[in-house]
Amino acid sequence: MDYEDGDGEGQAELSGGLGPVYNVAGLKRSSSKASGMHCSESTDWCFFCEYESETSAAGTDADLYGSLFGTVKRMSEAKREPAHIARVVKAAYDQDVRQHVLGQREWKEASILRHLLYSLHFTELFDSTVENMLKALITRQNHELVDLTTGSVVEENRKAFCHSIETYLKWQNAHTGNTRSAKRAKFTPK
Ligand SMILES: [Zn+2]
Repeated sequence: MDYEDGDGEGQAELSGGLGPVYNVAGLKRSSSKASGMHCSESTDWCFFCEYESETSAAGTDADLYGSLFGTVKRMSEAKREPAHIARVVKAAYDQDVRQHVLGQREWKEASILRHLLYSLHFTELFDSTVENMLKALITRQNHELVDLTTGSVVEENRKAFCHSIETYLKWQNAHTGNTRSAKRAKFTPK
């Protein structure tokens, strides 16, 4: 959706109607033409959305879903980047799973990445992506802090830089706090 500058008072003027940021009913039932970020708002096919782990096959070589799911979990815990995990899952799906899927449907790398980041299966991957975004933001801002002619610090950029660092520290503290709370809760006597 395109937005145009308003009357100069910081008010954006809408060029079209308004829509939800997340289509609860999904793409097929929605009247909105805008596609969202989640699997339900995409026309791409997704193996993780279409299939479930077979309880009877759990832990065996026949548990194809569980095998791919476990791969994502292991790589996520190893702090691998989502794009790399998606490439590995795509290769594993094509080699070991696709032949067993009805219609041998293609599972696009973009569709895998969409599920990794925006489904609630792997929220830790979205969290690590936000952390990477903040790191990238801070690093890029660092390159625009000093006026190369005068050697002086650009105050406006310094404020934005420090604000980004504060946000990053809050983000880190929130995550560390959650981890500590979880550990405390685990050992708290009743
Ligand atoms: Zn999905």
